[in-house]
Amino acid sequence: MTRTVLKFGGTSVASKDALEHLVAIVRDLAGERVVVVSATAGTTDALHEAARAAEAGDADRAERIVRGLEAAHVRLAAAVGLQDAPGSEVERLTERAVSLLRSVAILHECTARTLDAIVAYGERVSAPLVAGLLHAHGVTAEPVSAEGLIVTDGAFGHANPLMGPTAERARRDLVPRLRAGAVPVVTGYIAATAEGVTTTLGRGGSDYSAAVLAAALGADELRIYTDVSGVMSADPRIVADAAPLAAISYAEAAELSYFGAKVIHPRTVLPAIEARIPVRILNTFAPADHGTTITAEPVVDGSVVKATTSLGGLGLITVQGAGMSGVPGFAARVFDTTAAERVSVLMISQSSSENSICLVVPKESTDRLRRALERMFSVELQRHDVERVTVEAPVAIVAAVGEGMRGTPGVAARVFGALGRGKVNVVAIAQGSSELNISLVVQEAQREAAVRAIHDEFDARH
Ligand code: ADP
Ligand code: ASP
Ligand code: MG
Repeated sequence: MTRTVLKFGGTSVASKDALEHLVAIVRDLAGERVVVVSATAGTTDALHEAARAAEAGDADRAERIVRGLEAAHVRLAAAVGLQDAPGSEVERLTERAVSLLRSVAILHECTARTLDAIVAYGERVSAPLVAGLLHAHGVTAEPVSAEGLIVTDGAFGHANPLMGPTAERARRDLVPRLRAGAVPVVTGYIAATAEGVTTTLGRGGSDYSAAVLAAALGADELRIYTDVSGVMSADPRIVADAAPLAAISYAEAAELSYFGAKVIHPRTVLPAIEARIPVRILNTFAPADHGTTITAEPVVDGSVVKATTSLGGLGLITVQGAGMSGVPGFAARVFDTTAAERVSVLMISQSSSENSICLVVPKESTDRLRRALERMFSVELQRHDVERVTVEAPVAIVAAVGEGMRGTPGVAARVFGALGRGKVNVVAIAQGSSELNISLVVQEAQREAAVRAIHDEFDARH
């Protein structure tokens, strides 16, 4: 009997239309099925906002937000013809979230651990709703909280699943249900430590939950249902005629998500890939579409740049000075500073003359990092060995990704030619050592133009 894990994202559980598609997809699939669900679209964001309001002492606003979510879920349940059981479950969960938020407001403090307990509300309410609906359509389904299933370390907000204990629990709790023909509907995103304290796997983490469960259960396939027909050649909101890619390698998918293609989360599908489980990205609203298969091995299909992606909200810091060339340990001191300031660096580039080094970091961290670098190099700045530390913000990283770039001459020339014709000014360049991406920095205002220019250049249909 085949065993499939099906994950449905936020928009795939947030409307009557979406839920009707979901029911048909699950009902019509033969074999053993495990469903993993996200919170309804926007819910996790709203819970974060409630937590921030509570932390600032505004318990009333926090409560209003959660009551709003409660009402939305009750309305959604009613829209799909469910009235009783899920309503009371939502009520119980809402009271719990409201109490947590009140405590946060009293303390004026929301730790990562408390935040996880609060945001867990989203998936805790969506799973019973989906299970109830499947049940109403003749599918024996049961909501299951992943808090009893996926065991993680205690890194609240971005916890790491422990495969050994998770596999054990999955075998113990899910396999008997599957054998009996039931469909477990598991909460995505949330998990718990071995002691039972709620954790979350990071934003967008439901994909991760699904991949972990697929690996733990030795599934035959992992299907990630979303609101687009697979991984596209560009963000469909930027490039209107972006097309779904039939297949991409895991390495390409990882590069794409690293540089902002939010359709799949970087580390999320790795457990499934490592377990050699085929992963497919499919469209809930057009389930017959082919979707995208993510493969462990590179896909050779003659394409060069397969997809173009971008990541905004960044700042570029340049440390510059003629006296820097040949000074040993210079780069090390730059990175010691970023590490001490706990700033994550998305991209680095050093000019060949060695007299400048550029770092791309989140925009919020740029001023803090600039001041820290000025302190680190205060002596060199006085001596003019370091001329200046400059900031350019807001900027965006635009990346062209494709296995076919490896060893294909002239790709960079085509990228820059296209940008030139599109009147996009390139602020900095970096080629990853992987050779399957070229990434460059542009001003935020030119981000979309840059994505379109590169996408059009490598679009085989043009
Ligand atoms: P879900 O809630 O189902 O997990 P997400 O919002 O996390 O869905 O991811 C799907 C969205 O990712 C799409 O609606 C699309 O707007 C966006 N996206 C960005 N880049 C890409 C891309 N290259 N291919 C497909 N979708 C992309
Ligand atoms: N609900 C969570 C989030 O919005 C997890 C997910 O949707 O994958 O980040
Ligand atoms: Mg997602």
